Order: sequence, then structure tokens, then C-alpha cells
Amino acid sequence: MADELQQTDVGNSQEDEDNKRYCWVCYASDEDDETAPWVKPCRCRGTTKWVHQSCLQRWVDEKQKGNSTVKVNCPQCGIEYHIAFPNMGQLMLFLDRVDALIYKVCPFVAAGVVVGSIYWTAVTYGAITVMQVVGYQEGMTQMEASDPLVLLVGLPTIPIFLILGKMVRWEDKVLRLIRASVHRLPFLKYLLPAFRYESSVGVSTTAVISDPVNATRVLCGALSLPTIATVAGRLFFPAVQDNLTRTLLGGVSFLVVKGIFKVYYKQQQHVMQSRRKIIDYQQVR
Ligand SMILES: [Zn+2]
Ligand SMILES: [Zn+2]
Repeated sequence: MADELQQTDVGNSQEDEDNKRYCWVCYASDEDDETAPWVKPCRCRGTTKWVHQSCLQRWVDEKQKGNSTVKVNCPQCGIEYHIAFPNMGQLMLFLDRVDALIYKVCPFVAAGVVVGSIYWTAVTYGAITVMQVVGYQEGMTQMEASDPLVLLVGLPTIPIFLILGKMVRWEDKVLRLIRASVHRLPFLKYLLPAFRYESSVGVSTTAVISDPVNATRVLCGALSLPTIATVAGRLFFPAVQDNLTRTLLGGVSFLVVKGIFKVYYKQQQHVMQSRRKIIDYQQVR
């Protein structure tokens, strides 16, 4: 009986009632459509053994979603469908290979381009920073005198160190230190008004306002530091002749002033948080 079925699996067939074929996709039988070709693509027996060639192709298309290399399995028995393609000649085979190769290589090329662009941006940024900090002429002379390899490795580390430095949250440590000192030495409260409300019974249980590291903020802050340092140096230390010293002085004073404001701001936020009250509901009529 099985052999009989195999011989008649394509095209019209005269099945007897016992072996009536039903398509598990469209539920049609031989009587509904006498011409549609059938296939039994897997190990399934019984009602899910037969399926229309066209119905199964539609189902496979749906599973593959346009990617003809995706393997499709029978939902019942799990057997992978064997899909045969007609031989389209050597050229088609070659084009197919080329296509697959391009598909595989492109992500690496794209990643390389992105990494390369970031690297060259970092090199350029490093060079600009050197000229900004030590002066255009001096920077140019120094870089021209340096080994190119040293420059290619050294210059991109400048933005990296700036970003790493920006991620050191020293203000938080200072804030914690001041709070701890205020608990131990209450007279400090009169020197630092912002800490007046710091409870003297111990460290407040109020959650410290979380201040998550924000990537764009770190990036902008870190990369603008040399410019700010140069400007601050020119503004506040015009008497200093050496470019590097003046910029360093400008940078350090900027960081210190900014740190003081940040500590103050965070402490005030903390005070606001620990002295907040939830108000009674007022019936509005
Ligand atoms: Zn069907
Ligand atoms: Zn199956």
C-alpha cells in the first residue's frame, strides 16, 4: 500500500477511500482539487502525511520570511524539509557564492569602518588638544619631531584618558567625607551652611539621590575640558607665560570651582529630599 502511494504521489491519483489524501494546510482532499500536486515531505503518518506542493511552499515561504537559506522543519515530526532547486548552471552557482560571501564579509567591513573612523577621530582630537594646550607652533614642532608610531598610539589615548578621568566621581567622595566630618565636628556646620541641616544623630537614612553615569554627558564633559582649561587659563592666569602651565592651572581651577558647585548642589538636593513632606489631600469643591 505504501509503495502504491509513493508511485502516485504526484499528479492525479485514484486513491481508495481508506487512503484519501487531505492537505494539512488547506484541508482539501483529492476531490476538492484533482490537479494539485501532492507531496509527503516528512516522516508523518496519518492525517498530516500529505500536503499540497503549493500549500507547503506557501507555508515554507512564511517561515523563511524571504531568506531562502533558512531551514524549515515539519511542525509535527520535526524532520527538516528537503528543498531541491533546479540546476541553473555554473554562472548562477558562482553568483550565489559571491552573494553569500558579500553577505558574510559586509558586517566586518562596516565594523572596521566604524572602528577606524572612531580611531582617526581620536587621533585628530588628540592632535588638536596638544596644539591647544601647548600652543599651535610648539605643538606642531613637538609632533613633527616625534616618532609617528608614538603619535598614532599616543594621540588617541588623550581622549580616552579624558573620558576615564571624567568618570572618576571625586565630588561624591568629597561630599561623603564632608558629611562624615560634619557628624564628628558639628562646628563645621557654621562654616558650611549647606550642611546645616545634616542630622547630627547619624547618617541620614534617606536614599542618596542617584546620579547615574550618563554616557553623552561624560563624553561632552571630557572632550570639552581642554578647551575650557585653555579659556580659563587665558582668563584667570594671563601672567603665566608657559602655555602648558597656564592651561593646567586653568583646568585645575575650573575643576575645583565646578567641584565646589557640584558638592553644594548635591548636598542641597539631599537636604531637599530629606526634608520633604507629603501634603494632606485637600478636598476641592
Ligand atoms: Zn493544500
Ligand atoms: Zn512531519
